[in-house]
Amino acid sequence: MNKPQFTLVGGGLVGSLLAIYLERAGFDVKVYEKRGDPRSTMVYEGRSINLALSHRGIRALEEIGCDKKILQASVPMYGRMIHDVNGNTQFQPYGEENQCIYSISRSALNRLLTEQAESNGVEFYFNKYCKALDVKEKKIWLENTADNSIQTLSYNWLIGADGAFSRVREFLSTNEGFTSHIQKLGHGYKELHIPPVNGDYGMEKNALHIWPREQFMLIALPNTDASFTATLFLPLRGEYSFEQIKTEDDIKFFFQTHFPDALSLIPELEKKYFSAEASFLVTVHAFPWAYKDEVLLVGDAAHAIVPFYGQGMNAGFEGMRILNSLIRQTLHNPGDTFKLYETLRKKDTDAIAELALNNFIEMRDLVADENFLLRKKIEALIHQKIPSYLPLYSMVTFSDIPYSEALEKGKIHDQMMGEIMQIKDIQKIWDTDHGWHEIQKILRLYQNVYQ
Ligand SMILES: Cc1cc2nc3c(=O)[nH]c(=O)nc-3n(C[C@H](O)[C@H](O)[C@H](O)COP(=O)(O)OP(=O)(O)OC[C@H]3O[C@@H](n4cnc5c(N)ncnc54)[C@H](O)[C@@H]3O)c2cc1C
Repeated sequence: MNKPQFTLVGGGLVGSLLAIYLERAGFDVKVYEKRGDPRSTMVYEGRSINLALSHRGIRALEEIGCDKKILQASVPMYGRMIHDVNGNTQFQPYGEENQCIYSISRSALNRLLTEQAESNGVEFYFNKYCKALDVKEKKIWLENTADNSIQTLSYNWLIGADGAFSRVREFLSTNEGFTSHIQKLGHGYKELHIPPVNGDYGMEKNALHIWPREQFMLIALPNTDASFTATLFLPLRGEYSFEQIKTEDDIKFFFQTHFPDALSLIPELEKKYFSAEASFLVTVHAFPWAYKDEVLLVGDAAHAIVPFYGQGMNAGFEGMRILNSLIRQTLHNPGDTFKLYETLRKKDTDAIAELALNNFIEMRDLVADENFLLRKKIEALIHQKIPSYLPLYSMVTFSDIPYSEALEKGKIHDQMMGEIMQIKDIQKIWDTDHGWHEIQKILRLYQNVYQ
């Protein structure tokens, strides 16, 4: 008997993961991807080179039996290493000892997922660009990017996993009641390469390095080959901006002034900097994600976010874990779950979109602020004494607490911590018995947040 068939547009990270889930649930899955095969081509030239993978993403990878291979190909990062303008560094742990996030190469991850999907029976068709969609006829038009020939395909169920600038979304949004808006951040980014130094890591290996400079910042994530990928986030226009950096001298001077210790680690700064235009960062606001029980948008196509919480892919993976569990309950007509899925999930992807924008301010500005650091220390102390109290970062990064709940609790934490920071001489007494006594008085007022 023929298996019911799913058609996926986009074989990126989220598409490949969903393809594995669907094939395992008993469907015939065909994936149409505009790029070449990630196992034989450098398909991610120009995209972010490495990503932070954390609990929510790992949980989905565990379910499809891919987590071990992927974690082996990653570098654990136990905290942030903050670099000041004089080149001094300070390490800030992410959570408890041994809690970490993982730096993984986008192309390695995509390759591993494609391999796993194929070994599960998923069929990939590369160099197939989805040009158009007709939801009434249930047809898509695919262009072969090698010879420009066009192929028309009918589908049962169609998944749009084609990223932030989704073509599937573009066509869905022409239907009444559909909204789709791409919100551009005023900042863009460029990636730079920090090579190994004498065959070894040129900075602390197991950390996410940040050079916070208020309006802009540089970050660097480690790769397994002892190099780092650095990303410069700058306003697109204005005083300190991509627009202002026009010559090789400009970029060198900019680094000498703001990131002197990084400058010495990037031998080909000028060449690399001018080798590509700045990419921009977007949040996608789209709804609904489903068209009847026939088409569904997933991953960035439905809810792309800015990268400052390191959660875009993790949120996409978590979404596929949830979708899979819904589909498993309605195998005879998986499309029945599409509406349910979008209803369940939208509030959480809205919440992580908000959190990601807020975290940009924290990363580029607050991580270098003394009060902020004290607050983090006090929160860690509270967590140590009352384990059910989880700081916001831990809720988002190391737990399955729905993002919307984390956002709400985070707001109450802010209020509570605001009061704690007002305790007289808090900076002197926070780690004394007297300090804890004072902190507890405020905690009692907020017991419902952590019980
Ligand atoms: C600078 C940066 C840093 C990031 N860092 C992190 C991080 O640290 N942690 C994290 O969790 N997330 C991070 N993200 C977010 C993460 O990259 C995305 O959330 C994730 O890639 C989404 O996966 P996706 O499969 O939905 O989309 P994509 O990865 O964009 O995949 C979409 C796929 O669809 C294909 N495609 C597109 N259009 C068509 C078409 N018309 N026809 C056929 N195929 C098509 C594309 O070629 C691509 O393969 C970052 C993003 C950026 C920009």
